[in-house]
Amino acid sequence: MYNVGVDIGGTNLAMGLVDEELNIVQRVSIPFPKAGGGPETAKQIWEKTNELLGKAGADIKDLESVGVVVPGSIDATGSIVVNAYNLGFHDEPLKERIEAYFPDTPVLLANDANGAALAEFYKGAFVGCNTAALLTLGTGVGGGLILGGKMFNGGMNNGVELGHMLLVSGGKYCTCGNNGCVEAYCSATALKQEGIKAMQADPDSMLNKRAGGKAERMNAKVVIDCAREGDEAAVKVFDEYVDYLGSAVACMINLLDCECVAIGGGVSAAGEFLFAPLRQNVHKKSFFENHGRVVPAVMGNDAGIIGAAMLKRDQDKKL
Ligand SMILES: [Zn+2]
Repeated sequence: MYNVGVDIGGTNLAMGLVDEELNIVQRVSIPFPKAGGGPETAKQIWEKTNELLGKAGADIKDLESVGVVVPGSIDATGSIVVNAYNLGFHDEPLKERIEAYFPDTPVLLANDANGAALAEFYKGAFVGCNTAALLTLGTGVGGGLILGGKMFNGGMNNGVELGHMLLVSGGKYCTCGNNGCVEAYCSATALKQEGIKAMQADPDSMLNKRAGGKAERMNAKVVIDCAREGDEAAVKVFDEYVDYLGSAVACMINLLDCECVAIGGGVSAAGEFLFAPLRQNVHKKSFFENHGRVVPAVMGNDAGIIGAAMLKRDQDKKL
């Protein structure tokens, strides 16, 4: 049997046919059909699923489920995409639209950060763990939780918002409208913004030279590269960033006593340059002497497809 995993992003709709050993045996990526909205998206999922099955020498009877992850919020029934701004989806009944094409196959829908946590659980950094947290540091901060060996989507199924835990009372403005959220301090965007401030405050810094004095040329990687090379202005920005991220990770460890916290997204590409000081920082702030591991997420670009394909397995799992 196979499961199809569908990862819908603002740019591409990526799909994979996943076998029982969790290998992606066939995959396809097409431009996300934004203009066609939900109806066209559902139709493409149907067409591409048949294409993938055909290439694998299988047919619809060999399909256990169609799992879909989207970068947005899903209603508590798991049927409607309430808001996915990058996709232009608002109150979009996506599950129903896809089910119309797959009358005999279960269709499951989830937030992409939840899917990514599930992918780490079944195939990546969380294998062997029952309690784990994933933080994805990108434009924003996403996250997912595994509790008791299952994806945890909140007590009322409204989702979990690790990026909007409050880190600094009355702190920096966050895109959610609140102040002081994890996202406002720990996203790649936050690192970039602090890089811009530091560059403008210190025209002699390597930061300023690397970005050619232009704010639009600053990004998280420039900050990390300059910090790695010892630029004082960049080191200060990076150290502060690690301290905030350490607080966010320590919060999750203190709350959940989790076996593992994985960090994904662009910033995690900094590798041990980030993880070594981060672990020290977390250890200092953790309530527990023997706390869980802090590691890079490993599923990368396959997280969406694998996580989506595992939604059915997660749903069927007994507590
Ligand atoms: Zn927020």
